[in-house]
Formats: sequence, structure tokens, C-alpha cells
Amino acid sequence: MSSVEFIEPISHDDGVARATELFRATFGEEPAGVWAAPGRVNLIGEHTDYNAGLCLPIALPHRTFLALKPREDTTVRLVSDVNPTAVAEAELNGLKARGVDGWAAYPTGVAWAMREAGFDQVRGFDAAFVSCVPLGSGLSSSAAMTCSTALALDDVYGLGYGATDEGRVTLINMAIKSENDMAGASTGGLDQNASMRCTAGHAIRLDCMPGLSAVDSVSQQEFDLDKYGLELLVVDTQAHHQLNDGQYEQRRRTCEQAAELLGY
Ligand code: ADP
Ligand code: MG
Repeated sequence: MSSVEFIEPISHDDGVARATELFRATFGEEPAGVWAAPGRVNLIGEHTDYNAGLCLPIALPHRTFLALKPREDTTVRLVSDVNPTAVAEAELNGLKARGVDGWAAYPTGVAWAMREAGFDQVRGFDAAFVSCVPLGSGLSSSAAMTCSTALALDDVYGLGYGATDEGRVTLINMAIKSENDMAGASTGGLDQNASMRCTAGHAIRLDCMPGLSAVDSVSQQEFDLDKYGLELLVVDTQAHHQLNDGQYEQRRRTCEQAAELLGY
């Protein structure tokens, strides 16, 4: 029997140090700061987010950290510890949906979505990502990336949405738009809400009915495993997925057809 490999989360201090170091090594200067957002596990309620239904996710201790510095121009330069010698570059000026390829679409798309929403003060940035959220394993590394980017840009460009749960709903919408329209990876919002709105010792009961206020869409439900001496094992089935491989889209279309037949 092969031994079990546990993926340990990177500690806060380690994440800050490693992201800062990657930023320095890549861009030759100091970042303005380091931000982070977690991956998530959904306890129940799959494919319900885009069906106006309920889900119950928890945030993981596993997070994506990014060291970021704003730029005067509209260039975006990105590096990730997945491939620390490759720097991806994109230009925000004149950028259209699906205008960036590969993983760089996720963070670039957040800045693009903010500018599309009228936040003209958002300009370019250099960013270095360090993550222990497994990629493409259903634990939402993509949301960890878009949500950490949204929090960082909110902070350095002074949008003022990151500090409150209500404000974060605005940032969540930027992260969702980036995944849907720039990365072309359809997402219904479960992952981004979990990453930005879960609190320690709680799962969130997320009601995806459109039009609900921030207060009505989420309630914090006690889920304190430590308190009861319990642990949650999340097992990697090794069946890797890519959200833009068409399967999710197919399921989504089937649900839309069913809703239409039922008169919704
Ligand atoms: P999941 O969100 O479940 O991990 P997705 O297919 O939605 O799976 O997102 C995975 C994609 O997100 C990767 O293929 C890559 O493009 C991008 N990504 C996420 N985190 C990182 C990272 N730390 N470095 C580079 N790319 C990342
Ligand atoms: Mg994802």
C-alpha cells in the first residue's frame, strides 16, 4: 500500500515570506504588501449555485498568497511558484473578454472586471503568487487566486470593499466575472463566496437566489471540528479536471433546460 500524502497548509508567516521572496527575485523590488484568500470544500449542494439553490461550504486553511505592487501604467506582470521562472504579461488598456490566455487570465481578469465596472483608478500591477491549494482538484485554487487578487487590488487602489462582508460581495462579483468572461471557466459563485465570506469555525449557508442582500444570502453556521475532536478528510481521487473542459458547461445547460421546462 502506498503511503498517504497530506497536503499541509502554508502558515501565514511562511506564505508572506515566500510570496515576498518570489516577488523580489522576479521583479527586483519590494511589494506593496501581501494578501491571501483560501480554497474551499463544499459540504453539500453541488451545482446549486447557478440554480438559485443552497450550498454549505467551508474555507480551507490552504490559501493562495500574493505579493503585489501597483504600477503607474496598465501593464500586468505575473509569476507563480508553479513555474517561478515564467513571467506572464498582459495589457489592460483595450483588453476584451477572453483576451488573455492561460492562468494569467484569472488575476488579469479581476483588474479588467473592476475597470469594466467603472473603477477607473485600477491600473496595472506586478504580482507573485505562492499557493498550497492543489490546482484543478476541485478545491477552488482559481477562486483563491481571483479573490486574493480582488482583495489586493481593492486595497492598493482604495476601492474600500474588502473590509466588510457586504463590500466583499462587490469583489466577489469581480472575481466571478474574471473566471466566467476572461478565463472562460464558467462558475456560479459558490467558490468565491466561500473564499471571501467564510469565518473560522463556521460553514456558510449560502443562498444563491438572485437579488438577495448580502445579509440574506449568507448565514454563518457553527462548524467547529476542533471543538468536537473531529477532523475532515478531503481525499484526492486523482481525477483531475479543468473547469473549461466542457463538462461543467454541459451540466449547466441541462439545468437551464430543466428549469425552462418546469416554467422557471
Ligand atoms: P480549481 O479551482 O478546482 O482548482 P480550476 O480549473 O477552476 O480548478 O482552476 C485551476 C486553474 O487556475 C489552473 O489550471 C490555473 O490556470 C489557475 N491557477 C489557480 N491557482 C494558480 C496558481 N497558484 N498558479 C498558477 N495558476 C493557478
Ligand atoms: Mg475553480
